[in-house]
Amino acid sequence: MIDFQVNVSDVVFTPFACAALIYEIVKGLLFQKNQIPYPYERLKDMVEKRRKKQNGITLRNYAIETHYRNVSLVYDNLEKINNWIIRDFSKPNSVIKEVLVVFGDTPHCAREVFTISVCALDRGHIERNHLKELRKYLQRILRNIFLSEDFLEAVDASMNCTNVFLYMKKCCSGKLDMHSEDLFESCLPLAIPAKAKQMKINITNDMNKFSNCCKDLSVFSEDREEVEKHLECKVTMEDGQTEWYKCKFAIKGFKDCFIDKVSACELW
Ligand SMILES: [Zn+2]
Repeated sequence: MIDFQVNVSDVVFTPFACAALIYEIVKGLLFQKNQIPYPYERLKDMVEKRRKKQNGITLRNYAIETHYRNVSLVYDNLEKINNWIIRDFSKPNSVIKEVLVVFGDTPHCAREVFTISVCALDRGHIERNHLKELRKYLQRILRNIFLSEDFLEAVDASMNCTNVFLYMKKCCSGKLDMHSEDLFESCLPLAIPAKAKQMKINITNDMNKFSNCCKDLSVFSEDREEVEKHLECKVTMEDGQTEWYKCKFAIKGFKDCFIDKVSACELW
């Protein structure tokens, strides 16, 4: 197991910031591990461009259409995951402790597993007051992760297209109301094969580093309760009482498709 530290103590690490960082790491891993052939932003632009002109399309090339469907599905699935992670972290009783990104044909024959370990969050802030700061910060922190020599050395980029499964570990002191429309479902702990390569990305945060800049603007007494719940949760976690949740779908890796040396997404 390789450990990689990501210290977020120099930013107000709100629940939204945490969800955003995790989502960026997931997308970065997909690209770095060759499961999507272009960075996510490009993938998104390409799909959105096509959707805008959906009605005016006359060209019907089978290879292009198949490629579009594959890319489109990955895009939709990632957006769903994004919305769900944001929603889950933003719950006052959110108890997500780890997010696992599992590469392999099935989870049980995983080839590589990245575990993102979540730190204590800075709660009680008003999210919109920190969005601008977060945007800048994310770019910096992602560069620090994905361009770091340690990371690049540990992440072998020569993986063929496979499936990517997402898991979450939650401590069970909070109320976990699961609904059938939830993206994640309760599951047994994942047994990671001994030969799978593993990396742990530890997000660390010094608590109480800032006086709460949004304090006068928010209802702090409620947040106090949240912080206490969080501490309680930590204790439970140490006791090993965790519950596992699995994303109901896998992201299917795909390669670019070229028609006469031009990427299909330039042609749709
Ligand atoms: Zn604040």
